Amino acid sequence: MIRKFIPSLKVQTVFDIPMEELFRQGYKAVITDLDNTLVGAKDPLATPKLLSWLKELESAEFKVLIVSNNNETRVATFANPLGLPFIHSARKPRLSAFRHALSILGSSPKETIMIGDQLMTDVFGGNRMGLYTVLVDPVSMADEGFGTRINRRLEKFVRARLRKKGLHWEEKQ
Ligand SMILES: [Mg+2]
Repeated sequence: MIRKFIPSLKVQTVFDIPMEELFRQGYKAVITDLDNTLVGAKDPLATPKLLSWLKELESAEFKVLIVSNNNETRVATFANPLGLPFIHSARKPRLSAFRHALSILGSSPKETIMIGDQLMTDVFGGNRMGLYTVLVDPVSMADEGFGTRINRRLEKFVRARLRKKGLHWEEKQ
């Protein structure tokens, strides 16, 4: 059970994910969280660096879908200028959000990467769905809302348990 909180891969930022390598391994679709994964929770728009990263994914023929627990206004404001499809108010880690995402992407769990900054929602939900899960460091913890701060506390507890069992991943400082 606790193993479902272990990401397939841990990196600092989305830019550190070896996307070409993953593409060669057969992954063709990306579900990504928004807040504190792509940009800070209070940043309305993509940065130029993120834009070119998304362009690269597009030219590698990755399908990309944003799945966020945040509300429609927040997610649409970010995703619409990029022309990216999204699911808002997703209620991750519930599986319904991930199933819906896979049906939009037209991909199987084995072909799909889940990128996110939270163990309790992105990693746990993605792992339960059988996706390849990538955990990134949060872009900016200072801007997190109440629900996320609670999740961070739970995350600390889970991480301590994982460490105790010798299952925690290396953290680069
Ligand atoms: Mg997030």
